[in-house]
Amino acid sequence: KTVSYSSFLPTSTAAPAAQDDGSIINLDHGDPTMYERYWQQMGDRTTVVISGWQLISYFSDVRNICWFLESAFANAIVRLHKQVGNAVTEGRHIVVGTGSTQLYQAVLYALCPENASEPMSVVSAAPFYSSYPLMTDFLKSGLYKWAGDAYKFSKDEPYIELVTSPNNPDGASRVAVVNRKQGILVHDLAYYWPQYTPISFPADHDIMLFTFSKSTGHAGTRLGWALVKDEEVAKRMTKYIELNTIGVSKDSQIRAAKILNHVADSIEHGPESKRSDNFFEFGYNLMALRWAQLRAAVHRSDLFSLPSFPSGTCRFSSHHFKPQPAFAWLKCERDIEDCEGFLRRHKILTRGGKHFGVGPEYVRISMMARDEIFDRFTDRLSMINLESHHR
Ligand code: PMP
Repeated sequence: KTVSYSSFLPTSTAAPAAQDDGSIINLDHGDPTMYERYWQQMGDRTTVVISGWQLISYFSDVRNICWFLESAFANAIVRLHKQVGNAVTEGRHIVVGTGSTQLYQAVLYALCPENASEPMSVVSAAPFYSSYPLMTDFLKSGLYKWAGDAYKFSKDEPYIELVTSPNNPDGASRVAVVNRKQGILVHDLAYYWPQYTPISFPADHDIMLFTFSKSTGHAGTRLGWALVKDEEVAKRMTKYIELNTIGVSKDSQIRAAKILNHVADSIEHGPESKRSDNFFEFGYNLMALRWAQLRAAVHRSDLFSLPSFPSGTCRFSSHHFKPQPAFAWLKCERDIEDCEGFLRRHKILTRGGKHFGVGPEYVRISMMARDEIFDRFTDRLSMINLESHHR
């Protein structure tokens, strides 16, 4: 069955939305439901059937360091990275996790010596992903502790720096900022995919984290993967997951393999592939549309500003474009001090700057909601003006 490409474009954005019913618009979480429409269009092509007798064992491949990694999932990951060209997989161990959230904790465990007198400092440049401080400190580990903004880290001691690129919340392309001898870098590349940013080179770092959630949109499957150069680190990460959950759902891995292979099939013929079901074209076009819509709304209301980005040429798609991140990092201008509170009064729920280590004049807004929600959001935002502010 062929699907015409235009059928992917949301119909609701063509015409002005109906009357705003004033209901709550929740864009606080980065829930990637914008991808539902694409997967619905694919119908049964990514349906997976698992019989009651299948995938019963704890074990997948006992010869592999990560013994609970399903080979079909591992093969699909390598295949997709090769095609997209966003990460080097040669000479890497793959560790699968229950979301990259579990891998984050596994990596902290793996990198900290067991007998250090002090917990290791964990830093990231502000604005940083709001879950990092929470995930780092919630169990009050003796191995590591959150040490805040990497720009302000001045201690002469071992540290772990998280480099999130493109960054959550502000979409910036990033490199390490501390750059001292005793540092270990962890690259969180959740958003290094061609719907969000031009792919400029295959990332080639020692420890790279990816997630199924923001690549294909399947956050509910709870899968992430780490590409790890050092064998000892891969072993210790595997040990953490063994102690934490004795492995990772095989059902999820089999389903993910099917979905990732579909994505790989849809882009099989490289940049020239204009197949109507090209997954990254869908994502790229939808994000482009949404960013244009958001920038128009921000322009019209005149109370907010957005980051600007340099354009680049994507080595995967050949598109020349500016990053169109999964989150909008909105700044309230004029005399609005509490941007989150201000938008909440307009029944738009966002996440305020303080969660990301910066001031309350900023908010993070998810760009990944379903069409209808996103359209209602931009309509409402464009209607907010100074009068409504002072009222
Ligand atoms: N890292 C970053 C930068 C993220 O934005 C997210 C999701 N919001 C995660 C990790 C966690 O993703 P998951 O656990 O769903 O794989």
